[in-house]
Amino acid sequence: MFGVKEPDGGRYGAAVGTVRYRCAACGNLTRFDVTVSRRTRAFHHYTVGGDLQVEDEEVLAEEVEDVVCRWCGTGRSVERVGDGEG
Ligand SMILES: [Zn+2]
Repeated sequence: MFGVKEPDGGRYGAAVGTVRYRCAACGNLTRFDVTVSRRTRAFHHYTVGGDLQVEDEEVLAEEVEDVVCRWCGTGRSVERVGDGEG
């Protein structure tokens, strides 16, 4: 049951990285504090000894709440760069 994978791979990490940001005030493209609300489901695989390994984490919903430029300390001038090229 738990071993079944989605064919298109809805794994953790697939939903992030497609959107990039740019600070219009300072030109920053690489340093942001991003606050995200993320609802996930994962297979928690415990060993007999109690060690946890999280497997097959799937993002059910994700909402970016705030993006702040690290250099300016504010998100007022941060824009989304939609293409995700590079
Ligand atoms: Zn900035």
